[in-house]
Amino acid sequence: MLGICRIRLYIPLMRHTGKACACGRDHGAPERLTAGRRAALAILEREARALGAYELIDLMAAQDGRRPAPTQVYRALDYLVENGYAHRLASQNAYLACKYAHGEAEPVAFLICEACGAVVEATSGALSAEIAAVGALAGFHARAQIIEIAGLCAACRDGARPPKGRPESSKVLDAHD
Ligand SMILES: [Zn+2]
Ligand SMILES: [Zn+2]
Repeated sequence: MLGICRIRLYIPLMRHTGKACACGRDHGAPERLTAGRRAALAILEREARALGAYELIDLMAAQDGRRPAPTQVYRALDYLVENGYAHRLASQNAYLACKYAHGEAEPVAFLICEACGAVVEATSGALSAEIAAVGALAGFHARAQIIEIAGLCAACRDGARPPKGRPESSKVLDAHD
């Protein structure tokens, strides 16, 4: 088992600065997004949990009084994921905003609460090294390293479930300090 001191939870940085990231992706300047992409991202950021595409469409319709076409929303989500603004959780077929400027190849572990939907994004140097070693054995070059871990967040485990949509455990913690 990984010791907690070896787990690093991401620290927000470089977002909203308008600066291009060294990784070449356009995740530093949401103001450059088209209106549709920006609206989708704003809702993902506001909800602070993973949303399915149709739940997102419902929220966009409730906000603007206009229901966007699913193909349009899927295209916007693809763009947001490809450019580091959001992640797709394969196990949930859902999307969530990424608040952290990490590289595409950095390992990301999502801790997903099955009770309240809170998702914490974390990484670990040890995890990264292990994944690299496993890949090297097979002569495999990893493009993305994403791990989805299902369970209960601290609040739900303690029986103090936060209200849905404002998961307490989505706040940023840094066990390294
Ligand atoms: Zn991320
Ligand atoms: Zn929870």
